[in-house]
Amino acid sequence: MASGNEVIVIGGGAAGLNAALTLAEMGIGVCLLEKEELLGGHSGRYACKATDACVSCGACSISRMVQKAGQEKLVRVLTGHRAVEAKQENGGFAVRAADSKGREEGIFAKSLILASGFSPFDPSSLALGYGRFANVISNYELEIILRRENNILRPSNNEPAQSIAFIQCIGSRDAKLGHLWCSQVCCPSSLRMASLGLAKNKQQKTSFFYIDLQNCPKQIKQADDKNLTLIRAIPADARLGEEEKIVLAWMDPKSGLLQEEAFDLVVLSVGITPSQETRFLLSGLTGEDSLPKIFGSASGSVHTAIPGLFMAGCARGPMSIADSIADAALAAWEAKKFMESKK
Ligand SMILES: Cc1cc2nc3c(=O)[nH]c(=O)nc-3n(C[C@H](O)[C@H](O)[C@H](O)COP(=O)(O)OP(=O)(O)OC[C@H]3O[C@@H](n4cnc5c(N)ncnc54)[C@H](O)[C@@H]3O)c2cc1C
Ligand code: SF4
Ligand code: SF4
Repeated sequence: MASGNEVIVIGGGAAGLNAALTLAEMGIGVCLLEKEELLGGHSGRYACKATDACVSCGACSISRMVQKAGQEKLVRVLTGHRAVEAKQENGGFAVRAADSKGREEGIFAKSLILASGFSPFDPSSLALGYGRFANVISNYELEIILRRENNILRPSNNEPAQSIAFIQCIGSRDAKLGHLWCSQVCCPSSLRMASLGLAKNKQQKTSFFYIDLQNCPKQIKQADDKNLTLIRAIPADARLGEEEKIVLAWMDPKSGLLQEEAFDLVVLSVGITPSQETRFLLSGLTGEDSLPKIFGSASGSVHTAIPGLFMAGCARGPMSIADSIADAALAAWEAKKFMESKK
């Protein structure tokens, strides 16, 4: 079993990267485990949403951290290695990591930071056409389209979408699903994407269906309100119209009447949900399935019930890139304090 690292960080996204870099800056050796071949996590795939100026989406902070982690001598980066088991052992933590060929490596350290992130909500079970109609996509998929194409294109024909509907709070703030939390990032992130689309295509019309707008006063001001309509209603279902348009129906909040409109593209703003992997790893460490209780709770912290085990970023609840980075710095400091207390 390899040792020599003082801390193991599981997950190489915004949180894991900054936890590892902060520890290295403090002179502490780290093993950073990432199951994918590339570091960066979910936000490593996001587009720059700058229009005529930066809109502070945070995406470019990831590439800077990935580059730094590759150069940092105190950070041993193991990409393509999934943590398949983590347990307490000999006063520290033992993690079993497997590569894509099933070859395993055991790693031991004094402290462990779980930064294994979140899962985007899967909207396939909703009646909004996701997985059935090509032109119904998630906000996560739109990030990837924007990064690749630098424009909002319809998947059915790769033509720029002229009419777009964003539907917010998909999989969040939903008592039926037991997801009572607000995912924090989907209002600002979708409005940034809408603003970028409007800046690129002056003909584009965007309807933004929402329950409540969180964390986004700046983006609302930046949006071209002539072409952006905010509608306080959530369409209940979607059907396929002519030319693969998506017809949405909703109750108009002002008139109380049923409205219908066909859109070139519908973007479902899926929320941040607990990752099954984080849940599994945490259960193995604590002996109980505690993530559902922690996730999205306002009272959460980087500490866990186990001394020396910390959690950071979206592994413990929805937060932005900037908040995940700050959370991870705190977890790194707490890991340092914990190790000093053991000397
Ligand atoms: C559609 C969408 C758009 C968003 N847009 C923005 C935005 O514009 N601005 C913003 O600030 N925030 C945005 N966010 C939030 C942002 O994605 C998160 O704040 C950020 O990704 C959190 O980073 P993280 O490291 O905690 O988790 P993640 O990004 O999920 O990273 C976790 C990492 O852990 C790895 N991992 C998981 N399990 C294991 C394991 N067993 N072994 C090894 N590695 C493992 C994963 O592969 C991943 O690389 C958005 C979120 C969504 C869903
Ligand atoms: S913060 Fe976002 S909008 Fe600003 S430059 Fe970086 S990637 Fe672009
Ligand atoms: S950030 Fe907006 S879209 Fe996301 S859950 Fe909160 S209110 Fe809903």
